[in-house]
Amino acid sequence: MKFNTKTIHGGQKHDPAYGSVMPPIYQTSTYAQSTPGGHKGYEYSRTHNPTRNALENAFASIENGNYGLAFASGLAAIDAVLKLLKPGDEVVSTNDLYGGTYRLFTRIYEDFGINFHFIGMKNAERIEEYINKKTKLIWVETPTNPMMNVIDIKAASTIAKKHNVLLAVDNTFATPYLQRPLDLGADIVMHSATKYLGGHSDLVMGALIVKNKALADKLYFIQNASGAICGPQDAFLALRGIKTLHIRMQRHCENGRAVAEYLNNHSKIENVYWSGFENHPNHHIAKSQMDDFGGMVSFTTKGNNYEEAIKILENLKIFTLAESLGGVESLAGHPASMTHASIPKEEREKIGVVDSLIRLSVGIEDEEDLIADLKQAIE
Ligand code: PLP
Repeated sequence: MKFNTKTIHGGQKHDPAYGSVMPPIYQTSTYAQSTPGGHKGYEYSRTHNPTRNALENAFASIENGNYGLAFASGLAAIDAVLKLLKPGDEVVSTNDLYGGTYRLFTRIYEDFGINFHFIGMKNAERIEEYINKKTKLIWVETPTNPMMNVIDIKAASTIAKKHNVLLAVDNTFATPYLQRPLDLGADIVMHSATKYLGGHSDLVMGALIVKNKALADKLYFIQNASGAICGPQDAFLALRGIKTLHIRMQRHCENGRAVAEYLNNHSKIENVYWSGFENHPNHHIAKSQMDDFGGMVSFTTKGNNYEEAIKILENLKIFTLAESLGGVESLAGHPASMTHASIPKEEREKIGVVDSLIRLSVGIEDEEDLIADLKQAIE
């Protein structure tokens, strides 16, 4: 099956009870047994739920994995991966990553004795310098949030394999429509399914996808033992969202390109971050590992003017000033005070998250309306 067909049919069966084409929302915590242990494969909904299982099969299918797991949020999914580790273990992580991931690593897992090396991975070879006998995990986010850096997944996976270390890739920004990390050698793909997979800003959810059975078994154990699962109603919504992922992403990419090019030619804008530009530092890697460049675009105002940036955000009419990304509607955010406020200012500025940085999640509205909105807000 090719990708577009997979988004609709991948891992799906018609419901055995009445043949419903969409899986019913099995809104139940438990399942009747005829005798102790005499059940139909389902005992308790923290462990298994048919609606969630249908979604987990769809996750596995679209990422070219064998096993999918759905969680209560993206961070719950990352938390499950970190639970594979033990005190004293080390992680090499992208330094430019979602603020909440950084907060989970530094404010929760450092206290449990896990040590993190946050490094720039524009040159993925650098990862090897930080690997030692205690290293158990390489955490890669690409393209990064919010600076749109691109990290070479194949190069990271060569290093991971050489040192027998797990490679996990946060594929939230690209989605499998653009980039399939398991095919490039990653062991674990993670998503904030809140974003493009759900696609309609109506749920919070996380996903993990793996190929290896032993790794999947460990993660299923953690999912059930820790219990951060998603409910059946949200599973249904995410499954419905995935069915249009390919056509939404196509439009996100077209509009993302138009917005990036418009901003790049605007005299009041200083820097535009989008991996489709030929002068983007890792454009050649983006071109080789992604099928297009996505709908996320960040930019700064001329002279890093904070007041100008705030005025733009306040004046936007079609772009909504809000946290999050990846929905059908266009959103604008101010990373320094919103999504990345949990990263100390000094650390933030080192990676480029300056006070005038604006991050756009370009939606699937008409391109002309989006450009006109940016024009009136900037001018
Ligand atoms: N990873 C990335 C790249 C994100 O942008 C986010 C949230 O914005 C997360 C992970 C966390 O996901 P969630 O908000 O669903 O917990």
